[in-house]
Amino acid sequence: MGHALVTDPARCTGCLQCELACSLKHEGVFAPWLARVVVHREPETCRAFPNVCRHCDDPPCVRACPVGALKPSPATGAVYVDVVECIGCRECLEACPNGSISFDPDKGVALKCDLCNGEPACAKVCPSEAITMERCG
Ligand code: SF4
Ligand code: SF4
Repeated sequence: MGHALVTDPARCTGCLQCELACSLKHEGVFAPWLARVVVHREPETCRAFPNVCRHCDDPPCVRACPVGALKPSPATGAVYVDVVECIGCRECLEACPNGSISFDPDKGVALKCDLCNGEPACAKVCPSEAITMERCG
């Protein structure tokens, strides 16, 4: 049985704590531009929409990677980026239908949600439960 992050835009206040928690967990700094979760904001309506990886079955990002740098975690089954193998070609960014992969221009590698080994930081800090982890499959 796998896990996936589920978002509820109706609950999102746009506080961006999820982005901060994600970058702190993965990069050790508060740097939203390095977060694996991205909150899109709609200025006209003041609404916010958290976007996270859907952890697809048969993921297009995995199929697109020419060097096999996207792999399922043995612990959770969630696909993660092996940054040693990633060559920074951005094919996975193009392939993801959800726009869920971003890029670290300094390291030249793709950035993707790995479910934090089963304890996602974004879901943990979200004060309004706009991001939750659920079992699936
Ligand atoms: S922490 Fe929750 S409420 Fe805040 S921006 Fe992220 S998803 Fe929205
Ligand atoms: S990054 Fe995109 S294509 Fe890959 S598993 Fe997540 S949602 Fe699917």
